[in-house]
Amino acid sequence: MCSHPVIKKPQDKIKWSNEKIIDEAFIWQALEAGRRAGTEQVKWIITKALEKKGLSLEETAVLLCQDQQPERLSEVLEAARRIKEEIYGKRLVFFAPLYIGNQCVNNCLYCAYRRDHRGLERRTLSPGEITRQVEILEDQGHKRLLMVAGDTPDFQSNLEALKTIYATRKNQGEIRRVNVNLAPPTLDQFRELKAVGIGTYQCFQETYHRMTYQYMHPDGPKADYFWRLTVMDRAFQAGVDDVSTGVLLGLFDYRFDVAALVMHGQYLDKRYGVGPHAVSVPRLRVAHGTPLCDDNTLEANKYLLSDDQFKLVVGVIRLALPYTGLILTTRETPAMRQELFNAGVSQVSAGSQTEVGGYNREDQRPAGQFEIEDRRPLDEVVRNVVESGNIPSFCTACYRKGRTGEVIMDLLKPGTIKNYCLPNALLTFKEYLMDYASRGTREAGEKQLAGQLMGLEENMRAETTRRLERLENGERDLYF
Ligand code: SAM
Repeated sequence: MCSHPVIKKPQDKIKWSNEKIIDEAFIWQALEAGRRAGTEQVKWIITKALEKKGLSLEETAVLLCQDQQPERLSEVLEAARRIKEEIYGKRLVFFAPLYIGNQCVNNCLYCAYRRDHRGLERRTLSPGEITRQVEILEDQGHKRLLMVAGDTPDFQSNLEALKTIYATRKNQGEIRRVNVNLAPPTLDQFRELKAVGIGTYQCFQETYHRMTYQYMHPDGPKADYFWRLTVMDRAFQAGVDDVSTGVLLGLFDYRFDVAALVMHGQYLDKRYGVGPHAVSVPRLRVAHGTPLCDDNTLEANKYLLSDDQFKLVVGVIRLALPYTGLILTTRETPAMRQELFNAGVSQVSAGSQTEVGGYNREDQRPAGQFEIEDRRPLDEVVRNVVESGNIPSFCTACYRKGRTGEVIMDLLKPGTIKNYCLPNALLTFKEYLMDYASRGTREAGEKQLAGQLMGLEENMRAETTRRLERLENGERDLYF
């Protein structure tokens, strides 16, 4: 996270009250100034970003206003690629979402799980059904899941689901890290999540613009903007120091929302010494049975982002928050994903289903939370990542070694995390190649692995080589 004192104005104004986490007036002023910025200033900001110290809110706002400048877009994406590779190396971490229930007390205008969507069959997976879904994901080679659920009063079932996921083992398969995307918990609920071993706690503000938020979330607990805005404060106060934020791109002016997302990250960094571990960039998709995103209504939304605007968002977030993981999901097309694999993204989902119990369904019914664009199986995406010159990773080491919160920030800032990321990517990728990959992926992957191994510093290369041999001899789950 950005820690240097570039931003003066917004932080001076923060009095640590809820209302001052997001200073709307300041963001509008910054965007107004950003629109007037000249080419020299824009180029200077991009060059400055390469120092990997982050950007001020004003600088971020300038870059967010460059959506009509194709040359600036290319420069931002190239800078994003360089920064990501200097910090994390060429590894891309894989995960899959697991939807455990679609019951929901909220009525979000854009989500198919909304309470008033009467046409949706509601279900919550039983422990046996969760086990079956996890076994399928393990058989594909996944080691890291994101557990997702609608908002229900039954918090206990989330804890039980987490325990079931961790306990499920099929052949060599095991889920080593479970991140969660759940409605904002209380302080005590966060303590319970920590006790069962959650990885990252993820929650999207959807939009930081209060009036739009109120409109999009007309009732249910989610109507409370500040309860959601302060969720990460409760997480930190409960000892959960690994959190992930995001906005649902397309609900409101993306420039405002992304600037606010950065402001939120800077607030957390200043207050707790740790910013968000990761940021997601979900873009609005068709969602059946919703007023805003049905087949007929989505395209009429004036806030939908063009592809170039979306790419700009990804690049600018990498420049503004250089040490933050950047998550790209299957909401995007294979072509878009391939381009962004080399433009700052560091985590990707693959082989995803957004339908509850969807992993053992043969038919691709449009009964998920929203429609996805990349329906390729994991193996195909892995192959694609290899072909794009990157190294697929199934690593879960940092969280298991206690490298979260301030500890990981201390490794990220001087750039030493790469010394763990790349070797761990190679070890987990090797497991994938031996246990799950198709023949073509295995051949391409082994070549890529050998090439990346040569890039390691001598001692690390020797130790990684030894561990790769141990994997070949049947050991599993070796990591630094
Ligand atoms: N109950 C949790 C909560 O309160 O955050 C989970 C909500 S939902 C299951 C997970 C995320 O999906 C939401 O936070 C939202 O950003 C995203 N989402 C909802 N509808 C979407 C759509 N039509 N297109 C893309 N993403 C969507």
